[in-house]
Amino acid sequence: MGFFNWFSNKKEEKTSKAMPTQLDLEQKYQEVIAALEKHKRTAYLPVLKDNTKTFSTNSKYGGYPYLRNENDWPICENCKKHMPLFLQLNLNELPIKKEDGLIQLFYCTNYDEDCESELEAFFPFSKGSACRKIKIENPSATIQPNSIDIFDEKLIVDWNAKNDYPHPEEYSLRNVDATIDIDDVYELMEERDCGLTISQDKLFGWPYWIQSEEYPYDRKTETRMELLYQMGESEIIPYMFGDLGIGHLTQSPDNDEELAFGWACS
Ligand SMILES: [Zn+2]
Repeated sequence: MGFFNWFSNKKEEKTSKAMPTQLDLEQKYQEVIAALEKHKRTAYLPVLKDNTKTFSTNSKYGGYPYLRNENDWPICENCKKHMPLFLQLNLNELPIKKEDGLIQLFYCTNYDEDCESELEAFFPFSKGSACRKIKIENPSATIQPNSIDIFDEKLIVDWNAKNDYPHPEEYSLRNVDATIDIDDVYELMEERDCGLTISQDKLFGWPYWIQSEEYPYDRKTETRMELLYQMGESEIIPYMFGDLGIGHLTQSPDNDEELAFGWACS
């Protein structure tokens, strides 16, 4: 799944119109980029290194999490097994907004017990996933996990910064110039790698929406949450969310302990 598929689907909804000239296209491209420029954010793509599974405080995909005590590994309510670790971010290792603490995302992949659909794990705040912000206290506890899947551990050893732009599904939400219509200039945007939403795994930036915009809202303050991490498309964890789905770990701007994970596929 990529932007092109999303775009092609949208394009079919339109009736054909006269082909614009090259000069028109260039002018329109410049207008589109100018309108999107003020919504530009920086996203950070992870650089990975294979590692032996270790109970540690490193930023990583898969492997073993940092545990404050022997009972700290989240257990799935449906199958009663430890949920595999998908992502752990050591907030002191982030490229910006460094602080103390860890963010962890666990997600139950137990297909035999059908946990994903039983718990509707694709929805934010489902019991099929666990996401939390915790403090690093003592050295990690180590336990033998009772889990069906423990993924290979890949440390995040660096970040590559890249410009990122909102997905067309949220142009109206963000008040992107109402006259903007990227259909004609999409190919130029892709060719020049400018103005589009990054669909790969990334820290911060804008969510790549496969269906419509689906931000969760803080359960107390009802503020719209913001993207912390996008995952799925890069297939770093060998688990597919539905059919080539993309997942979003979001965080409340009012309360950094309010975290949610949800995903969608086409
Ligand atoms: Zn389960």
